[in-house]
Amino acid sequence: MDCTLTFLGTGTSMGVPTLGCTCAVCTSAVSPEGDHRNRRTRPSISLDFNSKTVLIDTGADFHAQAVRERLTRVDAVFYTHHHADHILGMDDLRPLSFRSPAPIPLFVDPTTESILRRVFHYTFRSEAEGRYLTSARVELNPLPTRDDGAAVGAEIPLFGAIFQRIPIIHGRENVTGYRFGSAAYLTDMSDIPDESLPYLQDLDILILDALRPQPHPSHSHLAKSIAFVEQLKPRRAFFTHMSHELDHAATDLTLPDHIRLAYDGLKLHFDITPASAPGHAETL
Ligand SMILES: [Zn+2]
Ligand SMILES: [Zn+2]
Ligand SMILES: [Zn+2]
Repeated sequence: MDCTLTFLGTGTSMGVPTLGCTCAVCTSAVSPEGDHRNRRTRPSISLDFNSKTVLIDTGADFHAQAVRERLTRVDAVFYTHHHADHILGMDDLRPLSFRSPAPIPLFVDPTTESILRRVFHYTFRSEAEGRYLTSARVELNPLPTRDDGAAVGAEIPLFGAIFQRIPIIHGRENVTGYRFGSAAYLTDMSDIPDESLPYLQDLDILILDALRPQPHPSHSHLAKSIAFVEQLKPRRAFFTHMSHELDHAATDLTLPDHIRLAYDGLKLHFDITPASAPGHAETL
């Protein structure tokens, strides 16, 4: 089953340009003579397959991203974690949710659920509690665990695909990456626990956090992410969640051919067929 992955945003939490900064990358990001690939909005992706659109995160730039990509529907959202650069666009699901026959499912870990309920409290009130009729029609769905209680590899079947939880470490937080068919998206990651590594084999596309050239306590940096690519051996890898310390063209030149920096609006095509689904063997 073919899937188109679109990078809605590829920037770090502050976005690029960083407000107030006049460095070469921030200037290039917004100058007509600059490199538009240096303009990085807050990170998220959309996945289009089987006539459905599934998002991973809705950041603070979601409205502008949806306008830019002419996005007309959202059928589900998987959240990676509760930080502002990943959740604050949730309210912009409102008009899309009114067009949807059923509430849009939002898949969340317990921390993200409690933060969403707090930040968008008016959305999750019952009508008896004074819920606005114009609130987003969304439904919180806790991410499942496996029968043995573990999160790693727990599966969420959706629209003919299977999304798998891939626990990753984000500084002091444990957050969620996802694998879907032959691709995986691991944003906001400072490390990948050993238990998650077996679920990241045989990938066509691996998308990793690579904040900047120097190490950072809660984000992977270039050399560390390159080392993960060499260890996991996906066919192609793309870096995201990037700061203004990475110039697109100059950094790409330093990378091996199968690793590229992602940029806002970049589209990738891959097979989202679940590995265990009937019919997959026929395509091998
Ligand atoms: Zn982030
Ligand atoms: Zn800058
Ligand atoms: Zn974060």
